[in-house]
Amino acid sequence: MSAPTYDLGTLHGGLRLPGHKSESTRQPILDVPVPGQLVLPITQHVGDPAQPVVGIGERVLKGQLIAEPDGTLGAPVHASSSGTVIAIEPWPVTRRNGGTAPCIVIECDGKDEAVHNTEPPVDFRTMAPPDLLRKFLQGGIVGLGGAVFPTAQKLMQARTCEIDHLLLNGVECESYISCDDMLMRERAGEVISGAQILMHALQIDVCFLVVESDKPEAIRRLGDVLGEVNDDRIALKQVPTIYPSGGEDQLVQLVTNREVPSGGLPSDVGCLVQNVGTAAAIHDWIINNQPLISRVTTVTGDGVVSPVNVRARIGTPIADIIELAGGYTERAQQLIIGGPMTGKSVTTDNVPLVKATNCILVSSETPSPGPELPCIRCGDCASVCPVQLLPQQLFWYACADDEKKMREFGLMDCIECGCCDLVCPSHIPLTADFRVAKGRIRELADEKARAARARLRFEARNDRLEREKTDRESELAEQKASAKKAGPSAIAEILKRQQEKKEVDD
Ligand code: SF4
Ligand code: SF4
Repeated sequence: MSAPTYDLGTLHGGLRLPGHKSESTRQPILDVPVPGQLVLPITQHVGDPAQPVVGIGERVLKGQLIAEPDGTLGAPVHASSSGTVIAIEPWPVTRRNGGTAPCIVIECDGKDEAVHNTEPPVDFRTMAPPDLLRKFLQGGIVGLGGAVFPTAQKLMQARTCEIDHLLLNGVECESYISCDDMLMRERAGEVISGAQILMHALQIDVCFLVVESDKPEAIRRLGDVLGEVNDDRIALKQVPTIYPSGGEDQLVQLVTNREVPSGGLPSDVGCLVQNVGTAAAIHDWIINNQPLISRVTTVTGDGVVSPVNVRARIGTPIADIIELAGGYTERAQQLIIGGPMTGKSVTTDNVPLVKATNCILVSSETPSPGPELPCIRCGDCASVCPVQLLPQQLFWYACADDEKKMREFGLMDCIECGCCDLVCPSHIPLTADFRVAKGRIRELADEKARAARARLRFEARNDRLEREKTDRESELAEQKASAKKAGPSAIAEILKRQQEKKEVDD
């Protein structure tokens, strides 16, 4: 079956942002050398933290499992070079409000010695999809577009729906970020191989490789490889460069004209979206047996000497990566992990590169939007919102902490893209307010769920005690009845036994 053709759907709202991509795409991807130390957070994915399976002082090899998943939603962590575990302790990590997280620290020995793999290569086409998904999980594969949702679990969920389309997301719509563009230019074959593996795992025959039309080199390279592999199930699709067309729901709408329902997932309308970097990581694991231990990331901004894309081991300190890009310029003022719209500002370059790090942006300016003024009800925020929300209404309800209204007006569908902030003439930090409000609603929901679980436990305990009491009473009644027939000494014996039992129970 060949991929169908569709007219492009329409993306509501969105913005045309300045690209700033050419700065980091002038030279090929550079490899960052093995650092002196690797710092590997045990949580680099959505879900529960992985549990360390190595101890301090233990020697580890490249590709060795060092933390295994715990819970239903998790992903393992692997050593990204050889060396000795010198600590398992809290370390500064990339978080919006700063802070630390448990990390496994490896002192590298510089040998970069890898785990010896004795398993014979297996053709993925001969593997049953559930086995392939289990293998994805073992490789620590998570979505590399930024969401870091474990790929195996995402596919498992999707397989419970009627999926007919795989969308490979090569749309990198946020300014400055160019790692997917460079990956598609240099590793188009691996991206397409990953797409074929994903299609086998999903048992589907339609894949769209979606790229913005302003990436001619990536399009040419992907087109060449598609011609070589001659797989007409995969079609290249060009979309206009509008932020945030790379959002999952927006991409589905744009490419297939299907609308993801409020609170729903692309799988509800038959689509599964995977980032092109994830597809290449799947190829590396399934074909070459290399788990997810490195990624391509963009180092850019006027605060670094030589903006570039690099391939670095997970756990490499950001400071080492910036050094490879020539170090800081005199103008460097702000360090952002991620892009300017959705990234997180950090105060130290001692944080490690993690699976989610698609960009390291060093900028000279700390954007100052001006003083916040009252809302003038201009409606500009609503006209750019890609989810068709009414940000000004949501803002009022967020200020009033009105959870019911916030939910009613779709706050939980907000993708925190930041478009409303950019156009607001009153400089209201709408996205930050929505992020806080969403966090509060989730906390409340968690509290309610915890309270409901505690109530259920309490009721179950009461039911059990009540049942035991009734059983005891009927047992006593039966014994009394038979003792009546046997005489007074038997009654005395039964009462004595009851008293002893009561004392033990108490
Ligand atoms: S853009 Fe700003 S001022 Fe205009 S309606 Fe929205 S919140 Fe109010
Ligand atoms: S941040 Fe939320 S409310 Fe604002 S434009 Fe984006 S999706 Fe809409």
